[in-house]
Amino acid sequence: MHTSFKQIQKALKDGETTCKDLVSHYLKVIEEKKHLNAFLEVYAEEALQKAGEIDQKIQAGTAGRLAGMVIGLKDVICYQDHGLQAASHILDGFKSQFSATAVEKLLAEDAIIIGRQNCDEFAMGSSSENSAFGAVRNALDTNRVSGGSSGGSAVAVQAGMCLASLGTDTGGSVRQPASFCGVIGLKPTYSRVSRYGLLAYASSFDIIGTFANSVEDTALLLEVIAGQDDFDSTVSTKSVPHYTQLLDLGYKPKIAYLRETVENEGLQPEVKENILQTIEKLRADGHTVEAVDFPLLDYILPTYYILTTAEASTNLSRYDGVRYGHRSQHSKDLVSMYKLSRSEAFGMEVQRRIILGTFVLSSSYYDAYFTKAQKVRRLIANKTKEILTQYDFIISPTAPTTAFEIGKNTSNPLAMYLADIFSVQANVAGGLPAISIPNGFDAQGMPIGLQIMANSFEEAKLLAFSNYWLG
Ligand code: GLN
Repeated sequence: MHTSFKQIQKALKDGETTCKDLVSHYLKVIEEKKHLNAFLEVYAEEALQKAGEIDQKIQAGTAGRLAGMVIGLKDVICYQDHGLQAASHILDGFKSQFSATAVEKLLAEDAIIIGRQNCDEFAMGSSSENSAFGAVRNALDTNRVSGGSSGGSAVAVQAGMCLASLGTDTGGSVRQPASFCGVIGLKPTYSRVSRYGLLAYASSFDIIGTFANSVEDTALLLEVIAGQDDFDSTVSTKSVPHYTQLLDLGYKPKIAYLRETVENEGLQPEVKENILQTIEKLRADGHTVEAVDFPLLDYILPTYYILTTAEASTNLSRYDGVRYGHRSQHSKDLVSMYKLSRSEAFGMEVQRRIILGTFVLSSSYYDAYFTKAQKVRRLIANKTKEILTQYDFIISPTAPTTAFEIGKNTSNPLAMYLADIFSVQANVAGGLPAISIPNGFDAQGMPIGLQIMANSFEEAKLLAFSNYWLG
């Protein structure tokens, strides 16, 4: 089956397939691979009907740029009149009243949305085991995790259940599952894509990103979903480059790697070997690749967890049993209704983060934790951007290990948080763009990802370099 949109467009043009055939094919794969638990809901009838309409548009020559692209959405992205629940019981029965701007833009170009995808509850996690609907399984080894939080979106592309997916990345949730599943995951610059219609986890970190099998498809998707939006005042008004036309870098970039990431003790030996070989190969290809020191590395995760839990405790206060979804049947008064609804319907990890976030925002500890973490965030951002003024890119493994076994880290939140040690920097450092691309396999045949990070709004450079590296 086709793994790139170019192949699909050619097959459509040559009359070898139709959008209806494509949707039928994906529906069949989704059914065959149900055990991976990648989708929470599949819009079978509707996608087939839409496909028929788009086939007619193609005939008439009026189809949009994504005609024939079948896409899945992480269950935190609104799609009007469709269920949405952040893989949480707190939103049982909820339906979106409007579509996210990114979704509107996909639909305007005739993409077909095939379903909503499983993830960690409210995007909190690194393995997609925190879903209220069971863990997502890695298609390459079903005893292993998909990565997270956008695990269903990564596996759906990995297993050929759709051509591409939209996920979200607050600290690595697009790049880390992309790395675990061997697909391409792009986290754009913060503010490059509207967050309107994205369920907020940590608003100063969240961004919608993409999963695809090719750099070209990634570039096309970003070109479509990026750009100004009257409904999100934080979104950038910068014009959106034609990423698909800029896939040739034309010069040898200067590359940095953080000494502390390559020398990190937590690195799986094959992941270490992989990044060292990558550095050697880049040098052999004539690139300048230099080690730089980043003594703040140890502070990135604590800073991330203080600030994101604080923002999450505020953002999730709206789920109170009154306005949406689950309401406890056991309450006696208003306060017990709030408490019981939230205790019954939020999972353990979400509760842990709400409690932690509420603590760091409490008046006695606000300065000690929240204010301090904001200052450290600035230091990390300044230092990272300083490196990126001297170098085009910072490269590292996307994650310290390949996909681990289901259940291995569930009782140890700290071990789980370490899965994001390399990915959170891009989000903490003021929302830099970063991509994870497949870069070989470990001895068990599990994919290893290479992370490439650039300065703000340099997605074109990232994509072009990825294109070169993937050849
Ligand atoms: N794993 C990280 C967390 O649990 C990142 C999640 C994300 O990017 N949404 O917060």
